[in-house]
Amino acid sequence: MFTSIAGRAVVVTGGTRGIGKGIASVFARNGARVLISGRDSDVARAAAEELSAGGAEVSFIQADVSDREDCRRMAAIAIERLGGIDVLCANAGVFPDSRLADMTEEMLDQVLGVNLKGTVFSVQACLPALKLSGRGRVILTSSITGPITGYPGWTAYGASKAGQLGFMRTAAIELAPGRITVNSILPGNIVTEGLAELGEEYAEKMAASIPLRRLGSVDEIGYTALFLASDEAGFITGQTIVVDGGQVLPEMLQAIAAAEASG
Ligand code: NAP
Repeated sequence: MFTSIAGRAVVVTGGTRGIGKGIASVFARNGARVLISGRDSDVARAAAEELSAGGAEVSFIQADVSDREDCRRMAAIAIERLGGIDVLCANAGVFPDSRLADMTEEMLDQVLGVNLKGTVFSVQACLPALKLSGRGRVILTSSITGPITGYPGWTAYGASKAGQLGFMRTAAIELAPGRITVNSILPGNIVTEGLAELGEEYAEKMAASIPLRRLGSVDEIGYTALFLASDEAGFITGQTIVVDGGQVLPEMLQAIAAAEASG
């Protein structure tokens, strides 16, 4: 049995939808007190209401992670409402696709600004409170795309997600004296509102390239974050956990069919 994380103060950037909302939900269901952030305050308000419906303590703040001042405001509000910050889940991310030949500087700036600079700004802003916690945890949502795999249209996205890992490895060393761990989750294809919009055919094709033959759930990413936030994971830092149903493993699609034929 893991030590309870009930009462811990948790900030989840991009916690208003998709994976971030799943992470916030798992923490809230396990008794943590959670602050979620996003740019759209209506969506954020609705998510906070939904997540706190069962009596959990979940509130929201409208904040853009690519804006340093917004990140400082987010950390200040967390300290005011939650009394500190024990866990930061730097999850906010965008994934517009654009082939290299057409990619504009604005688009590159947007992706790096939210996914990479936004990660750095969020961690910097929460740092003093994480240090005071004495058992601070930083959990980044990276991706298999970039660190391990590639997909046409996602050069900027892949660079930002791989960049998060470069950031993580040095941050883990720098923050270790403050008893803060820094780790990353690399999700594969996870069922989110955004993915649902791509249609059933996309989801079926994706599932066919995953050895476990299904997409992941936001809860499965949330439980990975919960583990990394636990006291029991306190000696793990600077590491990655791939949560993808085995998607990065097959040398070719035939490997999945061959396993099914024999098994
Ligand atoms: P999503 O459903 O589009 O949700 C993104 C969340 O981030 C929303 O809450 C959004 O709220 C927020 N956000 C976006 N830009 C922001 C900004 N500048 N400042 C603050 N919040 C911002 O996306 P998702 O699929 O859950 O992805 C979440 C994370 O998981 C991303 O980092 C993504 O790279 C990663 N990931 C996702 C998958 C997948 O299969 N879904 C796979 C691998 C990795 P607002 O729009 O209101 O700001």
